[in-house]
Amino acid sequence: MNSESETVNPMRFAQRRTVADPARVLILGGTSEALQIAAHLAARSDVMVISSLAGRVNQPRLPVGKVRIGGFGGVDGLASYLKQENIAVVIDATHPFASRISRNAEIACQSAGVPLIPMERPPWQPGERDRWVTVPDLQAAAALVNNQASRVFLSIGRQELGAFSGCSSAWFLVRAIERPDELPPKSKLILNRGPFHLEAEIQMLREESINLLVSKNSGGNATYPKIQAASELGIPVVMVDRPAKYTVPAAATPADVLLKLEELLGYPI
Ligand code: NAP
Repeated sequence: MNSESETVNPMRFAQRRTVADPARVLILGGTSEALQIAAHLAARSDVMVISSLAGRVNQPRLPVGKVRIGGFGGVDGLASYLKQENIAVVIDATHPFASRISRNAEIACQSAGVPLIPMERPPWQPGERDRWVTVPDLQAAAALVNNQASRVFLSIGRQELGAFSGCSSAWFLVRAIERPDELPPKSKLILNRGPFHLEAEIQMLREESINLLVSKNSGGNATYPKIQAASELGIPVVMVDRPAKYTVPAAATPADVLLKLEELLGYPI
């Protein structure tokens, strides 16, 4: 990493960009919000949008506009990429649980002198009827649910199922977009991609006699119906808290991100 941090020069953005010299905006993606922001910006001729995906899913939902796939090679790799590609602004619209890329983005942007717009969708909050036990991480969730009587709905993605590999007592209904490398010892796998709907979620929880749900507190609408379904059926939820992502305040929505981008570029977006 460059030891000397460059400062951001607002004059860089004072002039309206043109088709010949568009503002190059990098979106760190992997979320529905990143897709929305990319679709909005790709329609403009004064902005050139590049979306970056980690490459975890074999058939990702591809954003509109230019896309690159794969890690950058840590902070140094990302800082070099920003300079090589002459990136004017970085928008970090990654998932609330993708904390490493966000930390890297904050440091790399500072080092390369490129402004960063971080976005983090608000977490879900428990309602009056919700029965949540909040835990700090998936290991704590695994320790809590490993009981012979537990029939657990586990929908946490496929990367971190290893946290439940030692759970030999509980039974798990695992839902993922693609087949995971490992599953808990006693489990059934469903492959499916959201958004999901309340009625279908209620039916699934009933049919599988689920009596416990483990969820990351991802926020957003796409996967919220499982939380609503648990609430309707009186099923307790082990809710995994978010890791800390940024040292600076983050935008909450794509609209907030676009407002911040407007401020930086100095013209309406
Ligand atoms: P992470 O732990 O924060 O990042 C691990 C490494 O993956 C990063 O250091 C970076 O590699 C690479 N990476 C992550 N996001 C990237 C991106 N958008 N473009 C290029 N490289 C990226 O991330 P994660 O939790 O594994 O999540 C990976 C991706 O899946 C993210 O884009 C996130 O938005 C999406 N996602 C995650 C979750 C979740 O629950 N974690 C859920 C839904 C979607 P280098 O250091 O080599 O640059």
